Amino acid sequence: MKITTQRDLIRTAPKRWRNTYEPFNNDQPLFSVRNGHSDQLSKREIADELDKLDLESATPSDVADIIGNESWTRITCDQCKKEVTAVLQVGERRDYESATANLCRKCVEHVYPHLFENSKAHSIRK
Ligand SMILES: [Zn+2]
Repeated sequence: MKITTQRDLIRTAPKRWRNTYEPFNNDQPLFSVRNGHSDQLSKREIADELDKLDLESATPSDVADIIGNESWTRITCDQCKKEVTAVLQVGERRDYESATANLCRKCVEHVYPHLFENSKAHSIRK
């Protein structure tokens, strides 16, 4: 279990980008939902631009302007499906096929008082 914030995603975006795309074999501009094709940078250019960011003050929008979409800094609660700025991540470490759930503060606080309410599971003794 760990808390993941949007700032964490901004701080790790340059490294995650390079981990995903280096070496930059096909260095053509990417298609971008935000910028279209003609105004979009190549994967290598994106890596260089991400390296220039001040990761403590950059906004999600700054990252999206470079990459071309919001997915690299977007955090969504897996329970209520809302976009939030921080989540409690439970289960396996997040990967493409991991059993991981992101829960927003509101959902965690909503369920917490009711955990094990109608269950004896927590009091079973061996
Ligand atoms: Zn939620």
